[in-house]
Amino acid sequence: MSAYNIVSIAGSDPSGGAGIQADLKAFSAHGAFGMTVVAALTAQSTRGVTGVHPIPADFVAHQMDTLFSDATVHAVKVGMLGTAEVTEAVAEAIGRHGLPHVVVDPVMVAKSGDRLLEPSAVDALRTRLLPRADLVTPNLPEAADLLGEPEAADLAAMHEQALRLLEFGPRAVLLKGGHLAGEDCVDILVAQGSAPVEFRSPRVRTRNTHGTGCTLSSSIAALLPQRPDTASAVGDAKAYLTEALRRADEIDAGGGQGPVHH
Ligand code: PLP
Repeated sequence: MSAYNIVSIAGSDPSGGAGIQADLKAFSAHGAFGMTVVAALTAQSTRGVTGVHPIPADFVAHQMDTLFSDATVHAVKVGMLGTAEVTEAVAEAIGRHGLPHVVVDPVMVAKSGDRLLEPSAVDALRTRLLPRADLVTPNLPEAADLLGEPEAADLAAMHEQALRLLEFGPRAVLLKGGHLAGEDCVDILVAQGSAPVEFRSPRVRTRNTHGTGCTLSSSIAALLPQRPDTASAVGDAKAYLTEALRRADEIDAGGGQGPVHH
């Protein structure tokens, strides 16, 4: 029996590389029991997203209320929410149920360039959901969108943006620097009341990077209840993602940009 129940509140990716499908695989890989609240449907393959079908906000809340009135949950990963209404409903239900270890991946645009969050929902993400997050894990374009600033172009700018994101109220920010050029990928963890921590990992050369953000945030959620602090959960989640990228070319899931390996 697994001691840890981890919930993904996120969108479905039928191609299995990202979204709730990726989250469930990552939860299992870290020895946790996965549960899901489906917050949006997508039609997609390795070639891109061809459609997004939102779930009514009251039914997302209904799924959460039903699940949390029964199961004890040890951590939560929030991914694609699609609309402002769903973002508000999820934030409200997280507060109402007092959920622990809430990791928010502020999913906005897929690597294929398709939008996964309505532009009008960014404000709800910033003002309603981020104050309820224990950790938020934006990449550089998402951080720029949340802050309404240009993308950070170097490590010094990343540090400054990570600290500014903390002002929206999450307890910690992991700003992911994979979009910067360089042999190493550098991510920065800042938390209220502690010194910043930098994580370096070697850049893995593969075109199969679909689902990296989902896999990292769900791995962190699965590991937070199992590790002494956020930095060690992030470090182990990054090591897992690096291995998933190294093995990505073993998967043949279609003719486009393939998934990382779970
Ligand atoms: N589809 C869903 C449901 C997602 O949640 C995400 C990302 O978070 C994506 C697609 C896009 O994944 P990627 O940008 O890694 O291709």
